[in-house]
Amino acid sequence: MRMLARMSGVGLVLAALAADVLAASEIRSVRLWRAPDNTRLVFDLSGPVQHSVFTLAAPNRIVIDVSGGQMSTKLDQLSLSNTPITGIRSAQRSPNELRLVLDLSAVVTPKSFSLAPNQQYGHRLVVDLFDQESAAPSTPQAPQVTQPAAGVTPPPVVAVPGSAPAKLPVAPGAKRDIVIAIDAGHGGEDPGALGPGRKLYEKNVTLAIAKELQRQINAEKGFRGELVRTGDYFIPLRKRTEIARKKGADLFVSIHADAAPRAAAFGASVYALSERGATSETARWLADAENQSDLIGGAGNVSLDDKDRMLAGVLLDLSMTASLSSSLNVGQKVLSNMGHITPLHKRRVEQAGFMVLKSPDIPSILVETGFISNPNEAKKLSTSRHQQALARSITAGVRQFFHQNPPPGTLIAVLRDQGKITAGPREHVVTSGESLALIAQRYQVSLSSLRSANALKSDTIKVGQTLSIPATALAGQP
Ligand SMILES: [Zn+2]
Repeated sequence: MRMLARMSGVGLVLAALAADVLAASEIRSVRLWRAPDNTRLVFDLSGPVQHSVFTLAAPNRIVIDVSGGQMSTKLDQLSLSNTPITGIRSAQRSPNELRLVLDLSAVVTPKSFSLAPNQQYGHRLVVDLFDQESAAPSTPQAPQVTQPAAGVTPPPVVAVPGSAPAKLPVAPGAKRDIVIAIDAGHGGEDPGALGPGRKLYEKNVTLAIAKELQRQINAEKGFRGELVRTGDYFIPLRKRTEIARKKGADLFVSIHADAAPRAAAFGASVYALSERGATSETARWLADAENQSDLIGGAGNVSLDDKDRMLAGVLLDLSMTASLSSSLNVGQKVLSNMGHITPLHKRRVEQAGFMVLKSPDIPSILVETGFISNPNEAKKLSTSRHQQALARSITAGVRQFFHQNPPPGTLIAVLRDQGKITAGPREHVVTSGESLALIAQRYQVSLSSLRSANALKSDTIKVGQTLSIPATALAGQP
């Protein structure tokens, strides 16, 4: 707590400065978002404030003291259902001290921070209440009757490196589904791009398309769709790829809708991560706008961990090329299918440095479904008919890619081996630094068969070129 009123010489100066900065910031509105594991409260302010947060037990409460704060909104209109908050009260303790009290039905861990104004909002005070682990929905427990005999240690759990996708356990003999992680861009505090008249929010369009895409993917034999975001709440970009990895994703698809300063801009595009930053100015501009999400949601400097970044750098070198080739391949298939139902902004998969695509081991694409800033496209994007058509074209591209390139151990791989799925040969999209010999080695095919499958007269290949990978006796062997 700051001693603003202390009447020492230094204190007087501080008090004068503080009074200047903190003079009567009003809390103008309060917003609330419920995520699966936390509740976010956002207080919209007329200016910056100092604050402190502490918890009280029996009964559980959280107290937020706001220096220089004044209440100028009602708190009783917030919907608290499905949150641990049972009530919010406020009291003006002095002209310069506002106290907010949250009554709670469960113990939570609070985190709070201030956010500076951005394009959409002014000064904000954000209070995140994280549910405690024990309060999470009960997971099935191992039966307690079958205690291991004394001295018998249970079989060790195989350690999965933090970076590798944690494939979900599958019963012996059963073939697993191909898992598509579907990421609805933005959410909660971060509305994303706004449609004409600020009526249509990108976050709502992306969630609607994502849910439809999940429904369609689940209807595909051998596929399972997993939503990264299931409701209207904010998830930091790095957390999104983390969630995809936990769900054992074979592919990460991030759904967005563009905005551009020029209202006439239109068309859908698909992005994959670039090897070295953005490949075009448009791509660069977009990458910046999409990456802003973390700054808007306030995760910017909280989620970045230096060790993480170093590890990510190493992993990136090791496995990026392989997954980038797949990203470009699946991206191109999605783009061609989208071209049947909506105009395209660019005919080729673009590459940019989107943070959300930086999952070195999971092929990842970002689909811009159209320009929400264009009145015609905004109108289309808001209809379930167009959302379904977009989802159908993404599903078709994903299906084509995995029917041609099924991960080993999946039902689709088995069906393909049994000739029950007829798809073209496996494909590889050439990325920079690759040679024909290297690609032959990776797919365990001979250089000569690779040459003849692609009718190559020399071993010179171009970045972005799609190669057919022939099936050989070697394929499928251990
Ligand atoms: Zn977006």
